[in-house]
Amino acid sequence: MDLNGFMADVEARSPGEPEFHQAVREFAEKVLPIANADARYADARVLERMVEPDRVIMFRVVWESDAGEIQVNRGYRVQFNNAIGPYKGGLRFDPSVNLSILKFLGFEQTFKNSLTTLPMGGAKGGSDFDPKGRSDEEVMRFCQSFMTGLYRYIGKDVDVPAGDIGVGAREVGYLFGQFKRIQNEWSGTLTGKGVSFGGSPLRTEATGYGCVYFAREILARVDGGLEGRTCVISGSGNVAQYTAEKLVELGARVVTLSDRQGFVHDPEGVTLEKVRWVEELKTSRHGTLEEYPRIWGGTFHAGAAPWSVPCDVAFPCATQNELDADDARRLLANGCRLVCEGANMPVTYEASKVLEAARVAHAPGKAANAGGVAISGLEMSQNAMRMSWTREEVDQRLRRIMRQIHEHCVEQGYVDDGWVDYVRGANVAGFLKVAEAMLALGIV
Ligand code: NDP
Repeated sequence: MDLNGFMADVEARSPGEPEFHQAVREFAEKVLPIANADARYADARVLERMVEPDRVIMFRVVWESDAGEIQVNRGYRVQFNNAIGPYKGGLRFDPSVNLSILKFLGFEQTFKNSLTTLPMGGAKGGSDFDPKGRSDEEVMRFCQSFMTGLYRYIGKDVDVPAGDIGVGAREVGYLFGQFKRIQNEWSGTLTGKGVSFGGSPLRTEATGYGCVYFAREILARVDGGLEGRTCVISGSGNVAQYTAEKLVELGARVVTLSDRQGFVHDPEGVTLEKVRWVEELKTSRHGTLEEYPRIWGGTFHAGAAPWSVPCDVAFPCATQNELDADDARRLLANGCRLVCEGANMPVTYEASKVLEAARVAHAPGKAANAGGVAISGLEMSQNAMRMSWTREEVDQRLRRIMRQIHEHCVEQGYVDDGWVDYVRGANVAGFLKVAEAMLALGIV
């Protein structure tokens, strides 16, 4: 089976889904040589089965605005693959949400969850609802209606959703409250819960912290640590905030953050105080970074991404396809030596090829941002045991998991002259575990 033939089939079966095609192409390109070389995989058509979700659930979500107007949104849950454990993956609330985006995210999630070493299958869901500009009451009514549509398809041993873009602690709280009310049961069916009602310490920080731990492993292998490195971050939401926080703690210099309006360049470096201010701006006031220079100095660049700012390490932490081939060339020209993905698929396919050709380390999201779902997995364990670990215990486990993911990536992605193709490493390591489980489970 060759890549183009394989992709032609995928595109014909799922037309009009460009993000899904992109995610499958990136994966298949690295995994096909392995799948073709082992007759067990080819005979059982493991790869063809992997790119077809177990099921897709779509439902109407009706709710009433504060002004008394009836609103109609669409809810989704893509249950992609549960070969190695219950479905697990976040919910995204954003006007851009569609089936293509959720299929790409659910597909990626399957291999990310496999990499964590924990028993979790892959899923993703969400809605085209936009929480921006909505009151808490509106968000609550929407979440309650959404969960009324979803609850029958999820459960602690079936499918365990969590947050993603537009779904933070507030939304998870409302979703969990409605699930609990309908089912009359308290179970760890959602993760990312508040610590007072079953959430794990460090879950909020885990994706960003984990991403920095992963970058540190990569740099330690080739040329030292993070201390003194100049880092460029995109985004200013959950992942970006805690990536920035951990980088600052480890002595790196963070010089940018961004949002949908543009990016802020702070040559003096973001401090912990500034990160706390950004957190308050984004989670309580839902404001934009345009305000940043007035208080902290630096400059705001409307409508632009931060990739033209010279750096040692780039952390794209906002959204998919936010860093294209020209951006990658700019980063390389300015001396960037590592692109570490906090977001899911933030680097376009063409940009990924530019980085690969230059042999620059490129850590894909399915490895670098797996810390979030790993701690979600630990939240499920704590809920099942009716106990809670300390922040330090969870942090230790997070470091260990990120180190193990890094080792698996090096094992499968080592090329020559010490260069590691992390994209290949992550995809192949994630694939092998799921493939072996699928073979063992028979033709289902
Ligand atoms: P948040 O909603 O907390 O933050 C998203 C950030 O990205 C915001 O700053 C937002 O800007 C910005 N952004 C979103 N869409 C765009 C766009 N189209 N163009 C420019 N900027 C944009 O989400 P998270 O931080 O949770 O998620 C960020 C990424 O990380 C996503 O790809 C997500 O899938 C991935 N991820 C998240 C995990 C988690 O645990 N939360 C786990 C693993 C991956 P604004 O402030 O203007 O809205």
